[in-house]
Amino acid sequence: MDEFLFIDSIKQNTYRQSSLVKGIGDDAAVIRQTSEDIVTAVDTFVEGIHFTKNTMEPFHIGYRALAANLSDLAAMGASPAFYLVSIIIPKYWGKDDLAQIFNGMKALSKSYKIDLIGGDTVSGTELAISITVIGFVEKGKARYRSMAQAEDVVFVTGTLGDSQAGLHLLTNQGNYRNREHFIRQHQMPVPRVNFATGLNTLARVALNDISDGIANEASEICEASKVAITLYDEWIPTNDAYHQFPEELQYNWKYFGGEDFELLGTVSRSDWDKVKKVAEETSTPINEIGYVTIADSNTGVFLHKNNKVKQLHKQGYTHLK
Ligand code: ADP
Ligand code: MG
Repeated sequence: MDEFLFIDSIKQNTYRQSSLVKGIGDDAAVIRQTSEDIVTAVDTFVEGIHFTKNTMEPFHIGYRALAANLSDLAAMGASPAFYLVSIIIPKYWGKDDLAQIFNGMKALSKSYKIDLIGGDTVSGTELAISITVIGFVEKGKARYRSMAQAEDVVFVTGTLGDSQAGLHLLTNQGNYRNREHFIRQHQMPVPRVNFATGLNTLARVALNDISDGIANEASEICEASKVAITLYDEWIPTNDAYHQFPEELQYNWKYFGGEDFELLGTVSRSDWDKVKKVAEETSTPINEIGYVTIADSNTGVFLHKNNKVKQLHKQGYTHLK
């Protein structure tokens, strides 16, 4: 199949977004937007680094790649509208598997009524997918990591560690409870778009999505906001079958595992009830897990566990090390 047939095969027949003026088919896409701030992000996924065919079907590879991008927009409080896909295709990837990658993305794009409006297609030695997402947020309402303030409630959506638990189940033998749940969280995570956009009436909320583990994401909020965060281990939400895994794995996955694509946030105590209401309206599990304090000498994340306090340092996966 040549490049042009391929592009034709992934093209949407109709578009959903009214701000789109020109989609796929010219040198570039055109969007018309005057009233809102435009939010955009890009993420790249490389075979062997971010996924392998052993633990993900091609459908999941596409689904998860787009979900990760939508999660970034959610963490900005933005509604997603468009995505562009740049793909490097090696010879050993067949056309059916490629179609499945795009089907994975289409499944998500349908749920969120977003449109594929462009991209690039080239050949290469490894499969790599780079997705650019574009979304909109009410003027001045983007949610930054730098917005945390002392005495805020720290909250998190969903349960943590599930994605890494799912990967563990996919790569190890054994009988485990809630196997499907953990594997689904790994292969098809739910980006918290509806919850994040539902917070748009709040004056202030700091948000960060959990792609590299809560220790990292909380540290990023601390650095950007020049505050400290205290977390309580017994408040960190996990699945009810999470305790079946060895203790050390539980600890590592929930604090450093990442790829749960849940949202970590902070909000004033007086707005916490409103956040819980939005969570309820969008069927989003949510938990208070700690609080924000003034950083005296140390901006950082402190964990209360078994009546002891220790600092959680960043330690996710770092490229170029
Ligand atoms: P150009 O040579 O002008 O860069 P291309 O032949 O690369 O144009 O692309 C033609 C059209 O197809 C453009 O609208 C481009 O955005 C779209 N396109 C190419 N590859 C992809 C892809 N992987 N996903 C979505 N759209 C694509
Ligand atoms: Mg091109």
